[in-house]
Amino acid sequence: MATQELELSLLSRFQGVSLGALFGDCLGAKFETNWSVLPYEKVISYYETIKDKVAMGTPKADSGFVHYTDDTCMTFDLAKSLTKNRKYKPQDVAKRFTETFFASPKERNYGRHVAKVFSKLKENSCRGDVYKPASEQFGGSGSYGNGSAMRVSPVALLHHDNIIEMLTLVVAQSKLTHTNPRGINGAVLQALAIEKAMTSGKIDNAKIFCQELLDQFKEITPIKEDMEIFENGMSNVMELLEKESEVTPREIVSKLGTGVLAIQAVPPAIFFFLHSLKTNNVPTLSTYNGMVRTVLYATSVSHDSDTVACMAGAIAGAYYGVDSIPSEWVTACEGSDKAMKLANKLYKMNENSRKNKKS
Ligand SMILES: [Mg+2]
Repeated sequence: MATQELELSLLSRFQGVSLGALFGDCLGAKFETNWSVLPYEKVISYYETIKDKVAMGTPKADSGFVHYTDDTCMTFDLAKSLTKNRKYKPQDVAKRFTETFFASPKERNYGRHVAKVFSKLKENSCRGDVYKPASEQFGGSGSYGNGSAMRVSPVALLHHDNIIEMLTLVVAQSKLTHTNPRGINGAVLQALAIEKAMTSGKIDNAKIFCQELLDQFKEITPIKEDMEIFENGMSNVMELLEKESEVTPREIVSKLGTGVLAIQAVPPAIFFFLHSLKTNNVPTLSTYNGMVRTVLYATSVSHDSDTVACMAGAIAGAYYGVDSIPSEWVTACEGSDKAMKLANKLYKMNENSRKNKKS
C-alpha cells in the first residue's frame, strides 16, 4: 500500500477529492433522514446492490441514478464559479448558490436555516453586500453548522501548496452562509485535513497525523475565537484512535457527535478516515479498500450521514486517489462526469499558479 500511495499522481489525488466527496454524499444520502447508528450490514447491502445494478446494466446507468444532495450542489457551484471566473467573486458564488437552491429547494435536502439566507439574497438579486444575510442568522451570531465545511474541497484543491491563500478563501466563502467562528473553523480544519492527506505520503501513525493537523490548525487559522472546542474535538479523535478495534459506534457518537454542527461533523470525518487506515480496525469492513471502508464507516455511524461521508470521502480521496473509488459507483453517482471535469480544471489552475510562483 505504501509505495502505491507514494506513487500516486497529484492529478489522481485531485480527482480523488472531487469524486470521493461525491461518492460519500451519494452513498450517505440514502440514510440522511435516519438519525441513528446503522448496522454495517445494512449500508454494505445498499452499497453492493448499487454495484450489482450497474454491473447488470440496469437501470440505465450512464447519467447516474444515485442522486447527490446539497453538499454536492454547493461544492459544484463553488467550483464552477472559481474555475469560470478564475478567481473568487462572492456575488457570483452567492448567485449560483441561490439559483441552485431555488431550482429544487426540497429535493436536495438543504438545511432549513440556510434557506433564509438564500431568500434574502434573492430579494436583493445577489447584489450589494452578499455576506449580510448570513451575518444576520441566529440573532447576529451566525451559523455554526457544517455547511461551509462540506463544500470546501474545491478551495483546498485550487490553493493546494499555498496554505495562506487557501485559508483566506476558505474564510471568505464560509461567510456567505456561516459567519460564526465555529462554522468557519470547521471549514478551515476540513481544508487543512484534505491538504495534509494529499501531501503526507504514507501515514504510519494516525494519532501523529491528527496531532500535527491540530497543531497546524491552531497555529495558522485566521479565526482565533472558540478554538478550544476544536482542540477538544480533535483530542477526542486521538483518544478514540488509540482504542483501535475496540472503539464502538456508540462511543464515537457520544464523543464526537456526527451531526449537523461543524464541530460534530469535521472531527468525525477525520476520525473515520484515520481509523479506516488499518484494514482490521472495523472487522466487518475489512474486505474493502481504504476509501470504501472510510465511506461505509462514516455512513453507518454518522447521524448526518451524507455530509460526514462527503467530507470523509474527500479526505480519503486525497490520500488514496481516484482509482480507489469503485468504477460501478462512479457510474452510479449523478454528477460524476462534472466532478471529474471540475477536478481537472482546478488541477490545471493550481498547476499554473505553482509554475508562476516558481518562475
Ligand atoms: Mg446533504
